[in-house]
Amino acid sequence: MRLILTGSGASRGKALGRARLEQPSRYLVDETPLDHAEVADELERLDAALTIALAELRALRDKLDGPLAREVAEFIDAHSLILQDPEFVRGLHDLIGKGHYRASAALKLQRDSLVAVFEAMDDAYLRSRREDIEHVIGRVQGALARESSVEERKLASRVGEVLVSDTVAPAELVPLAEHGLLGLVLSAGSTLSHSAILARSMRLPMVVGAHDALSHLRDGDLVLVDGDSGEVIVHPTAQDLAGYRQWQREMAQQDKRLSRLRTAETRTLDGMPIQLNANAELASDVAQARACGASGIGLYRTEFLFLQRRDPPGEEEQFLAYRDVVLGMGGLPATIRTLDLGADKVDGAGLALRDEPNPALGVRGVRLSLRTPQLMYTQLRAILRATAYGPVRVLVPMISCIEEIHTVRRMLGECAQELRGQGHAIADHVELGAMIEVPAAAIALPSMIQHLDFVSIGTNDLVQYTLAVDRNNDELGTLYDPLHPAVLKLLAHVITVGRRAGRPVTLCGEMAGETRHTALLLALGLTSFSMHPGLILEVREVVNALDRRELRRHAPPLLRARGRQDIDDALARLPQPRHPGDEA
Ligand code: PEP
Ligand code: MG
Repeated sequence: MRLILTGSGASRGKALGRARLEQPSRYLVDETPLDHAEVADELERLDAALTIALAELRALRDKLDGPLAREVAEFIDAHSLILQDPEFVRGLHDLIGKGHYRASAALKLQRDSLVAVFEAMDDAYLRSRREDIEHVIGRVQGALARESSVEERKLASRVGEVLVSDTVAPAELVPLAEHGLLGLVLSAGSTLSHSAILARSMRLPMVVGAHDALSHLRDGDLVLVDGDSGEVIVHPTAQDLAGYRQWQREMAQQDKRLSRLRTAETRTLDGMPIQLNANAELASDVAQARACGASGIGLYRTEFLFLQRRDPPGEEEQFLAYRDVVLGMGGLPATIRTLDLGADKVDGAGLALRDEPNPALGVRGVRLSLRTPQLMYTQLRAILRATAYGPVRVLVPMISCIEEIHTVRRMLGECAQELRGQGHAIADHVELGAMIEVPAAAIALPSMIQHLDFVSIGTNDLVQYTLAVDRNNDELGTLYDPLHPAVLKLLAHVITVGRRAGRPVTLCGEMAGETRHTALLLALGLTSFSMHPGLILEVREVVNALDRRELRRHAPPLLRARGRQDIDDALARLPQPRHPGDEA
């Protein structure tokens, strides 16, 4: 019988396939206590299983290639580190040696207590890190049970299948996709997890948080996964299948239509050139940016390099990553953002971030970098060295006062001088810009702009800080409103201040990639956007069908709006995109 399971869409697109269940309680745990005489053998069994699990991870790492190899290798390394953690191993030995638990029971206890620690965390991203613990311990349990490795069993054949599981490790995703997997339905997981980020980059439709999936589905059930709506239709009807075929036809037409725009310029009907830049986190995003004819990288989020590891990446490692971004853009500008970590994102790379009562208002972004100068110097040196390979701009997150910019500029100057003294060929001048995402920076911009080479509006945060609405709290629902009159006034203000001072203004929040906001942003005077590269062609199509001069005339009523109704009325009056042939 037809049934709909609901979760959250974590990776766009639809997939139709047979369900393949991967039960979380895959391993039988023997709870009977050990006799004293059995302890030594059990310790040996555990150590052997740890060695096998490590060897499996190493083998998996060696097999990696392709555009995501480096990112996936980092996840695998993080898992290997957990297995070699002296405290983790000592804890298991104590449970067996002193507590007389069997190895499988010791692993289960260790898993439960570590997962409890992660679950107690307030931060959604940190909570999602419990998945790593489960994957690592699951792997050792697998080795203990002397089963075929989890990988082999999972990979036997994936053609036409949708994986239904509690969670999936990032390292498992690439081989799964290579073996023909179509999509994923997870009963747990979060849209912020690294698996979700990778699924998006690999275009694997994925639904997370479908709590009933494992109890309601059977192996082989036909499922239709919708990664946009977060719905999973079990036993779809003929009508559902017709809807899916229709969607496929529309997608094929859209791809064909949009692919013609890969080499097209972006220019409004009245001839105004518009820049469409790419936001990037992975090497594959840079490749996609080039393929879609992006104007440059508008935002390279360097946090990705710092996650899932014990120590921050050193200068050389960072330099190589930044250089690859610059080389990948073949002469187009790459905007590299300095680290935007804080206790609200993750305690990445052993940075020992304190638990803060209000992490989003705490030591985040530039505040963390300036409190940990060595971190900032290392990163600035690495970025500056990459300037030898193509145009680079440095972007600083969470700026709230001009003093922060002065300090970063001074540090940048010191690093440049030092590098030149050491014989590095770095660019003569590197542009320094600020993210405008704290309302104070937006309001005070007229007095700051002379000290900045460019600005980038981070609406994801600007909206949350202007409206005092947590961007990660779904319960606040429609209160998180990028079209709030206060937000629109700030956007128009920043764009105008930038234009008058002759400083480029880009908007790099999620809003920039949503075609329903394109006309509004053009009306407010925006000429440079930055978005996930997968959205560039859709936005280009809309920009090329709009008349900017006509739209600009609609800015005053938008800015006079007193409430959402006025805004909606003004938006309804905005000229619609005019495609070739529309006039006929
Ligand atoms: C923003 O705040 O809009 C932004 C682009 O940065 P992030 O989403 O990384 O905070
Ligand atoms: Mg931000």
